[in-house]
Amino acid sequence: MTFKELGIADPVLKALQAEGYEKPTPIQVQAIPILLKGQDLLGVAQTGTGKTAAFGVPILHHLYTSKNGQQGKRRVKALIVTPTRELAIQISESFTAYGKFTGLRNTVIYGGVKQGKQEQALRNGIDILVATPGRLLDLMNQGFISFRDLEYVVLDEADQMLDMGFIHDIKRIIAKLPPKRQSLFFSATMPKDIVALSRKMLGDFEQVTIQPEQATAEKVEQGVYFVSKGNKPKLLVLLLQERPTDSVLVFSRTKHGANKIVKKLSQADIRSAAIHGNKSQTARQKALGDFKDGKLKVLVATDIAARGIDVEELSLVINYDLPNVSETYVHRIGRTGRASASGIAMSFCDKEEQPYLRDIEKLIKQEVPRIPAHQFVEEEEEVDAKTEQRPQRTRNSNRNSNRNRHGRSNSSGTQINNRNRNKNRNRNRNK
Ligand code: AMP
Repeated sequence: MTFKELGIADPVLKALQAEGYEKPTPIQVQAIPILLKGQDLLGVAQTGTGKTAAFGVPILHHLYTSKNGQQGKRRVKALIVTPTRELAIQISESFTAYGKFTGLRNTVIYGGVKQGKQEQALRNGIDILVATPGRLLDLMNQGFISFRDLEYVVLDEADQMLDMGFIHDIKRIIAKLPPKRQSLFFSATMPKDIVALSRKMLGDFEQVTIQPEQATAEKVEQGVYFVSKGNKPKLLVLLLQERPTDSVLVFSRTKHGANKIVKKLSQADIRSAAIHGNKSQTARQKALGDFKDGKLKVLVATDIAARGIDVEELSLVINYDLPNVSETYVHRIGRTGRASASGIAMSFCDKEEQPYLRDIEKLIKQEVPRIPAHQFVEEEEEVDAKTEQRPQRTRNSNRNSNRNRHGRSNSSGTQINNRNRNKNRNRNRNK
């Protein structure tokens, strides 16, 4: 299947070609025909599957093919609501890229910055608006946005919206939408309240589900280190020192934890930056920009701040803390191995986190390969804490032979052993 076969208008096809997209991803193959025939859509998929183009391309196609001879000021015809500033900016950039030969105009509005420029962009007239919920409501209430001509509405990352407490804002926004519209609803997970919300928004709809296991197991090499809390910084330093040229995204469960990681890395002369909700918008954009440009190799992020990160060359994701919500693991490791690329995701698991690991494995229906030997195994730390200077090697004096048996490895055992990986792949294939 090609984009051309899907029946996309030439200017959009040309832009996709310019982006280097050779063929549609599975969600695009499934969603684009549904959207082109004007049907509402429920997409159960996470970021990283190509879902922005899955909804962006048909919207651009429709707006382009129906705009012939249109006169007067541009009015908002498509609205995309997404939970975070980073995601909003990224979606808007995608619309600019996919729509660059269509003559359509888009803009993005989000909170945390003055609204003057956003007001001006709206006054000038736009076809496509990407927004976070709070700022959207503010500007709606101030009369800057009219939905009179709205034809397409996308609610993106609905589960994240609810997690972030946007439910009331979303309901208020839905209440203001014109009844005649095409609605698209995306969520990575579908708990009860999300199902209820989707029913509120969608008319007759079709559903497309891209299983998390497809996104994770087949594209991302995974591994887990059993390590004590106290030894996590040392293990992280070791892993990063082994891969000085790689772009690495480190996940922390909390904002405070993210700051602490940056501090520990700095003590080991590893430059990094943290992005989370307590950082200013400017600081977040700067860190993200430097990371995308490759000037900054290590970015430490909380889950919410990381939702919008789309970095082509991201080679490694490290779960410094395991998430207590299993779906979050899938989101996190989806940061690497995006679209057709493959990536690696390593997790640190301390004793308290072992139940989280079990839940994750249940969700992804596979065992995350254990990294067999490394300097900072869980049990060693407890002895170390009592005897301080005790050399760390004795316990694993046979570690090298162990490593050799597993094929390839280095001091942290970063490379996943082949046997485990193949076993996992086969298990998935057999499902
Ligand atoms: P998304 O899930 O929309 O955030 O997309 C994830 C990544 O996949 C982005 O870097 C896109 O540029 C890329 N992408 C989307 N569709 C395709 C495609 N058909 N071929 C190659 N890359 C794609």
